[in-house]
Amino acid sequence: MEKFDVVVIGAGLGGLSAAGYLAKAGKKVLVLEHHTVPGGYAHEFRRGKYRFEVALHALDGAAPGGWAYSALKDLEVLDQVHFHRMDPFYTVRFPKHEVVAHADIVQYETELVRLFPHEREGIHGLIADMVETYWQVRRFAAEGDAGIRPPLEKMPALYPKMLAAMSISWDEYMNQFIQDVELKAVFSTLWGYYGLPPEKLNAAVFIFPWVSYHLVGAYYPEGGSMAMSRALEATFKKFGGEIRYKQTVNKIEIKDGRAVAVETEKGLRVEADVIISNANSPDTLLKFVGREHLPADYVRGIEEAKPSVSNFVLYLGLDRNLRSEGWTNHEVFVAEGYDSNKDFQAAMDGKFDRTALSITNYDIADPDCAPEGGSVLNIFSLADWNTDNQWGTGGSLENYSDNPQYNELKNAATEALLDRVEKIIPNLRKSIKYIEVGTPITNWRYSRNVGGAIYGTEQTVDNAYTTRLNAKTPIKNLFLTGAWTFGGGMSAALLSGRDTSRMVIGYMDGTPVTLMTAPNMDENESPLPAAPTTAPVKQVVTSASTSSTSAPAVTFKAAGSGRQVTLNAIGKRSVLLFHTADTSEDAERINKAVRAVDEYQACTSITIANVVDLHSVPKLFRSFAEKSMRESFEKASKSIPQGQDPQDYVVILPDWDGKTTKGFGLGDTSKVVGLAVLDEQGGVVGTYQGNEPERHALELLQKVS
Ligand SMILES: Cc1cc2nc3c(=O)[nH]c(=O)nc-3n(C[C@H](O)[C@H](O)[C@H](O)COP(=O)(O)OP(=O)(O)OC[C@H]3O[C@@H](n4cnc5c(N)ncnc54)[C@H](O)[C@@H]3O)c2cc1C
Repeated sequence: MEKFDVVVIGAGLGGLSAAGYLAKAGKKVLVLEHHTVPGGYAHEFRRGKYRFEVALHALDGAAPGGWAYSALKDLEVLDQVHFHRMDPFYTVRFPKHEVVAHADIVQYETELVRLFPHEREGIHGLIADMVETYWQVRRFAAEGDAGIRPPLEKMPALYPKMLAAMSISWDEYMNQFIQDVELKAVFSTLWGYYGLPPEKLNAAVFIFPWVSYHLVGAYYPEGGSMAMSRALEATFKKFGGEIRYKQTVNKIEIKDGRAVAVETEKGLRVEADVIISNANSPDTLLKFVGREHLPADYVRGIEEAKPSVSNFVLYLGLDRNLRSEGWTNHEVFVAEGYDSNKDFQAAMDGKFDRTALSITNYDIADPDCAPEGGSVLNIFSLADWNTDNQWGTGGSLENYSDNPQYNELKNAATEALLDRVEKIIPNLRKSIKYIEVGTPITNWRYSRNVGGAIYGTEQTVDNAYTTRLNAKTPIKNLFLTGAWTFGGGMSAALLSGRDTSRMVIGYMDGTPVTLMTAPNMDENESPLPAAPTTAPVKQVVTSASTSSTSAPAVTFKAAGSGRQVTLNAIGKRSVLLFHTADTSEDAERINKAVRAVDEYQACTSITIANVVDLHSVPKLFRSFAEKSMRESFEKASKSIPQGQDPQDYVVILPDWDGKTTKGFGLGDTSKVVGLAVLDEQGGVVGTYQGNEPERHALELLQKVS
């Protein structure tokens, strides 16, 4: 039986990157790939003397400071491939505007100010803020790499723009600076690269690569994205890695909660200490692993996550040279109006006479792709997998290309796009020597991506970077890489592979893990309960009140125990301690003082609950906060005397929006701990926030003893 340290399923850029880093780190790695070539979407096909790029229009930041640079350098791609920087990056045609996105960001900014002078300040402010946001994410990454990333609680102060961008839509972000709807549409031209219109797209997903493209450069590799894939393959092999093509994995064998082997449709079985999947997450987890091995809520999350949009692409080999005719743009975008929502909806509805489209002339950056006197042109529109009952197939995908309904729809869409592009490139049809058409089903056929998705799951406000499906899975030695975990785009796939390789090395060798995608640079770091090393500076707010109002009927799921706790129905005398990470030690002192009186005579007498105000914890860090509270619960449970149930004593209630804390009329609990005492009926006996909280807690308790 064959055995490897690591088996990687899929040789897309995510898989190749993870495999390359691991091979470089000395691991024995095997990649099993469904297709006949490496790269996933990053590949090519040939017709006669024409070489067609399957996917890549522009790679962001293949130079120092750019998003993709570190991975391209580490994996020796830059030694093997020349990257051409595009100038201009692109041109966009709207009904009333034609705008050139110059490679020089200031020249582009100036062009925008020339066209929209009334928005001068907004344009300056927007671009400056985006650049600062990018700077913050780069610092975050670089400080992580250097091992000097600050603790989690400092992050909101240090990287505020990065965190803010990650939690709002691109439209909301723009609205802070510019209002003109036409300008907003022009500025958002690249939304199609991320698959959702500005109102739905996570702002960070737009901003990070936008700045990388516009500041550090938009690149195209000579030889196409296939040259990158081949270079990655060569580096991987140089470090001892092995790739086997035409091997479609259909099973990950699970034994005692661990992934022990993979099996392919051809009956190959290979064992491994670790398995990484670059295949889409629904197939990996629901088909190869199987629901029975996974927690129900995890399975539900996979099932409910929506695959991103797909695409419809015409690949044209022309017997005329567009560059010599003055067509000097690598990419031209065409929008029929200024409403991106309408454009997106047109793609969803299969209205190819109306969708936003892009025309890419590969002669500019990669002249060898066509023979002398010829050109390679790619016409791209977003498209939906479900159009006309899955493109006339009704879901029956075997031999779909022989299905007349499929061909009819494909031909109609082709003609609609050619009609439109002929208005820009006259007599286009006459010069077509080769034409191939890619539909969402073609995407699935070659990459197996569910729904022909380009970018994994949709990159919505709530599903970007750290809030996406984690590369770690509930099966401890099974990891993910690529668009379905990190997000779409070729540079993102490369970075995803790097992050996953770090997780795997951390898992195998027990070393600390520094990630681009997540703030948990060290698995053992515990962000929330970390007590401040010096006593917090206290702003003393003294307030005490007694009343007979009832506690709010709020129900919490207690961290660690998972118990449901409803404040006005605890059924016992209770002390609620309101605090944050900064005041957790003070809360602990009050807890001890109360317990000293109670002498652990059982929680039948008093419940002490910690209401932790988490409103300042960004949404995307919630999972880390939860993990941290669980660890606090486990740690505190160890000090509970034998024979007692820790769940009765250690009650941690996460107040995510801080509303419960506020509802008790308390001030800033990160400065001064607050408390409330409840009677057996859930009535509020009194609240207090100020000096000597232990004494006040005991006095309030006496009122109900
Ligand atoms: C038409 C198009 C245009 C695009 N343009 C750009 C662009 O201009 N710039 C940009 O940055 N990004 C672009 N993208 C997006 C980018 O290509 C992808 O987001 C990125 O390449 C995804 O890489 P990946 O590693 O996640 O996965 P994929 O490329 O999807 O690779 C997955 C690999 O896993 C293999 N696999 C799947 N299932 C199995 C199995 N069961 N067994 C074995 N192997 C399996 C597949 O065959 C494939 O090789 C474009 C995509 C498309 C489709």
